[in-house]
Amino acid sequence: MTIDTMILQTPYLSLDEEFYNLTKSDPLDEPYLISFNPEAAKLIGLDEQSASDPLLVSLLNGTFIPKGAEPFAMCYAGHQFGHYNPWLGDGRANNLGTLNGWNLQLKGSGETLYSRSADGRAAIRSSIREYLMSESMYHLGIATTRALGIIGSKTKIIRNNIENAAIVMRMSQSWVRFGTFEYFYYRREYDKLHSLAEYVIEESFPHLQSDDDRLLKMFCEVVDKTALLIAQWQAIGFNHGVMNTDNMSIAGLTIDYGPFAMMDDFNFGYICNCSDNVGRYSYGEQPNVAYWNLTMLAKALSPIISKDKMDKKLEEYGSSLYPTAYIDVMCSKLGLQKRLEGDGAFVEELVIALHDAFVDYTLFFRTLSHYDGNREALYDIAMNPVAIDKWLELYDKRLADENSTFATRSKKMLQTNPKYVLKNHILQEAIELAEKGDFSMVEKLLYLAAHPYDELAEFEHFAGDTPEEYKNIGLSCSS
Ligand code: AMP
Ligand code: MG
Repeated sequence: MTIDTMILQTPYLSLDEEFYNLTKSDPLDEPYLISFNPEAAKLIGLDEQSASDPLLVSLLNGTFIPKGAEPFAMCYAGHQFGHYNPWLGDGRANNLGTLNGWNLQLKGSGETLYSRSADGRAAIRSSIREYLMSESMYHLGIATTRALGIIGSKTKIIRNNIENAAIVMRMSQSWVRFGTFEYFYYRREYDKLHSLAEYVIEESFPHLQSDDDRLLKMFCEVVDKTALLIAQWQAIGFNHGVMNTDNMSIAGLTIDYGPFAMMDDFNFGYICNCSDNVGRYSYGEQPNVAYWNLTMLAKALSPIISKDKMDKKLEEYGSSLYPTAYIDVMCSKLGLQKRLEGDGAFVEELVIALHDAFVDYTLFFRTLSHYDGNREALYDIAMNPVAIDKWLELYDKRLADENSTFATRSKKMLQTNPKYVLKNHILQEAIELAEKGDFSMVEKLLYLAAHPYDELAEFEHFAGDTPEEYKNIGLSCSS
């Protein structure tokens, strides 16, 4: 399929008018292509050669509207830093419609009914970050939105500095948020809550469609998917930064990449978002805040699903999404195939050791994947090797219960513990070059994002310790 033969559908527009607002995108000045993602193109059945199609920039700039598309912004509300905001919605995104199960959306394409006092734009810096990071998360096996391409422009916007505006075409299997349900709950429009739930089941949980108990089962699946997602974030060292309920996907996806970060040195209390004064969304708080967000979702769904039954589901997880799924993912990072009774405590010991060791999180697991009893390489990467040493005593004992050989364990661990994750200083290199008109690093990082477990000589310098001045820096929310 070529761009001019794309045919989109707009199932979201079959919902009541209150769910969305029809939009018209406001094109950027002198747009130019920064990058096109052939893998994402494949997902929607678009020719990979579309990179050189002159219509591509027009598609991304919202000046070419594919057949069947009808641009709209989605309405939602949400708890922002714990406070309910009744009026959010896509303030800078135009949804075009769906293709092959993917909802296509232009982020940064101008003001909508939901822009409030903001400009409807996205900076080139944050757009490149989202474009690359969503791809990286996918290849790390973490559920996420994707992106088809990105354009830059001469349109100026005011952030911390005057910056150039960009547009990313994001793709998601669902753009419905916990906050979409909250919008109708707080307005007491329970019939709309119901039609939204049926829409979500059709879009994201189709196997439940003919089940009489589908609403409750949908909620239970949202809880489990969210728990798995958070476990994977914790295990990979990802800090989202703005886990407001409007940034929580009903389909359990990583959405709305803002001031996120892949951790450098492990720090349980790391806060990537420098506007988050109290650390509500710090790395260590993510399982707790996800749980709180799910309780807000349960409240919003209570007019249409038994609250007692939803609470019972949540109780399976205690008061945080921490335990089971996280321990499982961590055990596989450690090359452990069996699950033994003390594994939870063993993983906790590791977290404490990593926190005390001042060690790069990604590098630690990659180095551990080569561990054959000789501890030198692990001592070398930690500022405080004593902490690592103590934990390795436990690890040696735990490995003795496994009956695995070093060779098989190491092979598996090297496919589980990435060599490359897109840390902030790496993304920053691509951004600084792109701001000067050189997009070669964006292209290279797109490749790197797709090969996290490979040994790539050209990128060896990205696999090491983060330069001291960039370690665990805080990022501005302004994007
Ligand atoms: P976020 O936390 O970045 O996902 O955004 C929170 C809310 O603010 C959403 O409703 C966004 O659509 C809206 N928003 C963020 N930045 C802008 C902007 N530059 N223009 C309009 N709306 C925005
Ligand atoms: Mg958002």
